[in-house]
Amino acid sequence: MAESSGEFALIDWIRRNSARQPQVETGIGDDAAVLRFDSGRTIVTADMLMDGVHFRLSESTPESVGRKCLAVNLSDVAAMAGQPTAAFLCLALPRTGGAPLAERLYDGMKPLAEQFNVEIAGGDTNIWDGPLVVSVTILGEPAGVEPILRSGAHPGDWLLVTGSLGGSLSGRHLTFTPRVQEAMALARSASLHAMIDLSDGLASDLRHILRESQVGALIDANTIPISDDVDPALSPAEQLHHALTDGEDFELLLTLSPEQGAALLQNPPVEARLTKIGTISAEQRCLMVDFDGETVELPSGGWEHRFGSTEPDDSPPSRGDTE
Ligand SMILES: [Mg+2]
Repeated sequence: MAESSGEFALIDWIRRNSARQPQVETGIGDDAAVLRFDSGRTIVTADMLMDGVHFRLSESTPESVGRKCLAVNLSDVAAMAGQPTAAFLCLALPRTGGAPLAERLYDGMKPLAEQFNVEIAGGDTNIWDGPLVVSVTILGEPAGVEPILRSGAHPGDWLLVTGSLGGSLSGRHLTFTPRVQEAMALARSASLHAMIDLSDGLASDLRHILRESQVGALIDANTIPISDDVDPALSPAEQLHHALTDGEDFELLLTLSPEQGAALLQNPPVEARLTKIGTISAEQRCLMVDFDGETVELPSGGWEHRFGSTEPDDSPPSRGDTE
């Protein structure tokens, strides 16, 4: 695909505006970027977000959309306890207003990129008759600790979650700070067994850990930290449902031994709230002790991709992970 003069201008503009990172030997503007990772390993994650599905340009500023597109990727690097380094930004721009839109998207990403020492090191820009599509790929490296996988949970482990859950769509899904620093601090302070970032909702994302680790879990409804963004006028059960299923919390869910868990809670290495919400079990079921003290199957209801749906999309945007 031939590069348009608009694309050259955007590349120049990004090159002038993006903070450089030492690991990026050759950044944006050549045929490919060249990176040097001293740790010898690379963490890679990609996410594609589409207008009308994951955000609505009619309801959000391009800057907040751009910020979110970078933030969700940073959250996936955080879930590995990794240090992000370079981002690659691919845009399918609508034919009308594409160039200023691209600059505003990038303006929204820039402060977050600088906050987390990430260089915009390349990408691609095309124009089409469809709506805005933004794909971000991030490369990073282990931050002095082994990458924390979904597959490492052991029976007996404690389940801990950062922050509080639910109600993200009232605004937090656009403004959240990815838990990059918290993940690294937690992984350096304790031997984490498994970790995931909560993108689809606790009830759904917990199952990813259980499936990959071939274990089960028992969580306690009374301990789930419910965000202030959840309508306090709702019943406790309704509030809990939001906390379990709303998605886009971008908090960390992690498992570790009870000894390490108790030590972390006693002496937390992060300012973020840290809550024990349950334990990992050998039996491969996902259970919850409800408000009545009864043990029930945890209702999943986390967001799923709805491929092929012909229904008009008037529900909140759903999103999933690159797995
Ligand atoms: Mg994730």
